[in-house]
Amino acid sequence: MSLQDHDSALFWFRRDLRDYDNAGLYRALKSIKRVYCVFVFDREILDVLPSRRDRRVDFIWRSVIELDQSLREAGGGLIVQHAVAREEIPRLARELKVGAVFTNHDYEPQALDRDASVKQQLQHAGIGFHTFKGQVIFERHEVLTQAGKPFTVFTPYKNAWLRKLTDFYLKAYPVDAYRAHLAKPPIDAAIADLRDMGFEPTNIGELLPAGMSGAQQLLGDFRVRMAEYKDARDFPAVKGVSYLSVHQRFGTISIRELVRSAGAGQNVGADTWLSELIWRDFYFQILCNFPHVVDHAFKPTYDAIAWENDETLFAAWCAGRTGYPIVDAAMRQINQTGYMHNRLRMIVASFLTKDLLIDWRWGEKYFADNLNDFDLAANNGGWQWAASTGCDPQPYFRIFNPVTQSQKFDPHSKFIRRYVPELARLPDKYIHAPWTAPALDQQAAGVVIGRDYPLPVIDHAAQREKALAIYKAIK
Ligand code: FAD
Repeated sequence: MSLQDHDSALFWFRRDLRDYDNAGLYRALKSIKRVYCVFVFDREILDVLPSRRDRRVDFIWRSVIELDQSLREAGGGLIVQHAVAREEIPRLARELKVGAVFTNHDYEPQALDRDASVKQQLQHAGIGFHTFKGQVIFERHEVLTQAGKPFTVFTPYKNAWLRKLTDFYLKAYPVDAYRAHLAKPPIDAAIADLRDMGFEPTNIGELLPAGMSGAQQLLGDFRVRMAEYKDARDFPAVKGVSYLSVHQRFGTISIRELVRSAGAGQNVGADTWLSELIWRDFYFQILCNFPHVVDHAFKPTYDAIAWENDETLFAAWCAGRTGYPIVDAAMRQINQTGYMHNRLRMIVASFLTKDLLIDWRWGEKYFADNLNDFDLAANNGGWQWAASTGCDPQPYFRIFNPVTQSQKFDPHSKFIRRYVPELARLPDKYIHAPWTAPALDQQAAGVVIGRDYPLPVIDHAAQREKALAIYKAIK
C-alpha cells in the first residue's frame, strides 16, 4: 500500500517568487486538493558565494517574506528551509507524505543536475515530479528554423518568435481560482533571519523594491516611460530603462505580464522593449541547445584566442581604476549597487576583452559574482557577444572606443561625475579623457591625473591594433 497521500502535493518555488500567474503553482492547485509550498535557501548555491554581504540573497529573503505573507492571506503559507535543496525536497516530500512535487523549469546546468537528482529520489519513493515552463514565453525547441534546428541568429529568431506568439502564450494562470487548495505549513516556524544563514544585510533595500509589490511598483513607473525607451535606453544618466531584470531573475513578476505590457505595435518604444525581452528568450534557448557555451566559445575557433590575462590590469578593471572614466564609473556602479546599465555592460566587456586582452570568462565570472540580475544565459550571451566569440556577435573588428562611447552616451558627464567624484570638477571637454587636461585645468578642478585618478592603464589605439591582429590570426 502506498504511503503517499495523492490528495496532497508540494509546490517548490525557485526562480518564480510569486503566487499569481505561476504555471507550476496553478497546475498543482488545479489538480490536487492540498498543496504545501516550500522555498529552500539552497546551501549548494549560497555556501559558495564569494561574499557574505550578497544583495541577491537579501533580495530573495525580502521577496520570500512577502510571498509567505501573501500565501498566508490566501489561506496557505510558505515552508522556508536553509538546506541542500536536492536533499531537502525529497526529505520533505516523504515527511509530508505528498503524492507529487510540482515546480517550474530551470535551465541552468547545475539546476538541471539538481532536478534530475531530486526526480530520481522522488521516483524511488513513489512520488511524482511535475515540471512546467514558467520563466520564458518559448523554451527549448519551441521556436526552430524551418529545417527544425535551433536559431543561432537573433533577427530570424525574433521574427519566428513573433509569428508564433498568440494570446494563448500570454494568458495568465489563474492561481487565485484554486487558492482554497493551499495548505498551511505543518509547523508555524518563523523565517530564518539573514544572519542565521550566515549573511549580512545589504543596501539592496535602498536601491530596489523587492518582492511582487516591488516589481509592480517598477513596472508602473516604467509603463509611462515605455514609449520613450528607444531614445532613452542608451544613456546611463537618464532613467530610460525598466530596472526590472532582478525581478525577472527571481520571478517576482511574470514574463507573460511583461510581454502583455509591451503589447505589439503600440509604439516604437514598446516594440524596442519587447525586442529586449525576446533577446532574453533567445539566450535561454541558446544555453539549452548549445550547453557548451557555459565554458567555451560558441564558435570553437575562438577558444584558440591567446588572451594575455594580465592580473594587474584585471584588478584595475574590477576596482574601477583603469584611467578611462566611463569604464571606471561603470565598474564602480556594479560594485556599489550590483546593477550596471546595458550600454555600460557592453563598453566594459569590450574594454576587458579587446583593450585589456583578458579572457571574457574572467569578466563573466566577475559579473556573475556581482550582478543582482545575474542570469547564466543572458550573462554568457552578453559576454560572448562583446568578445565576438558568440552566436550573432558583435563583429570582432568593431571595437568600442571608450572615449567616443563616453562622449556619445554620457554627453553631459553626469554619470561619470556621480561615480568618479574625483573628476567631478573637470570640464566636459576633458572629463572623458582626463589625461588630456592641461596641468592648469587639472589644478583648477582640484585633481592631478596620475595621483588622484589613474593615468590610462593601456593605450586604446595600440591595444586595438593588437586585438585585431589576435582575432585575425585565429580566423
Ligand atoms: P531593460 O532595458 O529595461 O530591458 C528589459 C529586459 O529585457 C531586461 O530586464 C532583460 O530581461 C531583457 N534584456 C535586455 N537586454 C538583454 C540582453 N542583451 N540579453 C538578454 N536579455 C536582455 N541581463 C540579465 O538579466 N542578467 C545578466 O547577467 C546579464 N549580463 C549581461 C552581461 C553583458 C556583458 C551584457 C552586454 C548584457 C547583460 N545582460 C544581462 C543584459 C542587459 O544588460 C540587462 O538585462 C539589462 O541591463 C537589465 O536592466 P533593465 O531590466 O533595466 O533592462
